[in-house]
This record gives sequence, C-alpha cells and structure tokens, in this order.
Amino acid sequence: MIKPDAVSNGHTGAILDDIIKGGFNIVALKYIRLTEDTAGQFYAVHSERPFYKDLVSFMSSGPIVAAILEKDNAVEDFRKLIGATDPSKADVGTIRNKYANSIEANAVHGSDSDENAQIEGSFFFTAFERF
Ligand code: ATP
Ligand code: MG
Repeated sequence: MIKPDAVSNGHTGAILDDIIKGGFNIVALKYIRLTEDTAGQFYAVHSERPFYKDLVSFMSSGPIVAAILEKDNAVEDFRKLIGATDPSKADVGTIRNKYANSIEANAVHGSDSDENAQIEGSFFFTAFERF
C-alpha cells in the first residue's frame, strides 16, 4: 500500500516505478480512500498499541494506493526495498528513506508474511479484480 502521505506528496508514480524496477509484478492495483472503520479493520492487529488511534486517523486522512505484488521471496524482498519502519533508520535508497517523513507517515506498507499478504490482498481485492 502507498500511504496517504506519499500519495498527497506526489510520490505515487516514483514509488510504483521503484517497485516495478525492483522486479515486482503488479497483479492488482487500486486507488481508494479508507474510512476510519476500514483503516481500523486493516490495522486491527495493532489495536492495543498506543499509536493505533493516530494510525487509523492518518490512514483514513486521504487516498491510498493498494496493490498485490508478485515476486519470488516477495515479502522479504519488498521489506528490503521499502526499508525500516522509521525512515530515519531506513537504508539510503529505500522507498522510506526517499519518500517518508516520520515513523507514522512512512510512505508504504508491506505485508509481513505470505499468510498476511493473502489476507490483506483479499481485504482490498475480489478474485475478479486480480489476474
Ligand atoms: P507496515 O505494517 O505499515 O508495513 P511495519 O511493518 O514496518 O509497517 P509495524 O510495526 O507493522 O511496522 O507498524 C505498522 C505501522 O504503524 C507503521 O508502518 C507505522 O505507520 C505505524 N507505527 C509503527 N510504530 C509506530 C510508532 N512508534 N509511532 C507511530 N506510528 C507507528
Ligand atoms: Mg507491519
């Protein structure tokens, strides 16, 4: 997912370019705005964390781009491409290093396991919307 900060700062095209050049195949793509309710469902795993309320409010603050990406070793390779959660700790050249502003407004989301990638893909896309 490209988060609201990166979309509103005009980085959508550059981030998609980095993703494609990183060897990922885009299987599905969607430009939408989450509500507080849907953002809360997406990040339900973090509901007990102190930053949850702010995170839900941030994630519903503007449009996002959701994508399903395909690659060998995709979860690990995507996390390498995006860099550390806190952009000040993200390696030079990673997406968060280049386009993120803070640990909350950190430009992109990546699934943390194949299992969660399936769940998150189904959250945004029906079978009909993938190819
Ligand atoms: P993501 O799941 O979005 O790819 P991540 O796996 O690197 O990010 P998580 O620990 O899953 O990090 O946290 C989910 C999101 O919650 C982060 O991307 C960030 O937007 C926000 N977040 C995490 N830690 C903090 C924090 N300490 N303060 C504010 N927001 C935070
Ligand atoms: Mg995570």
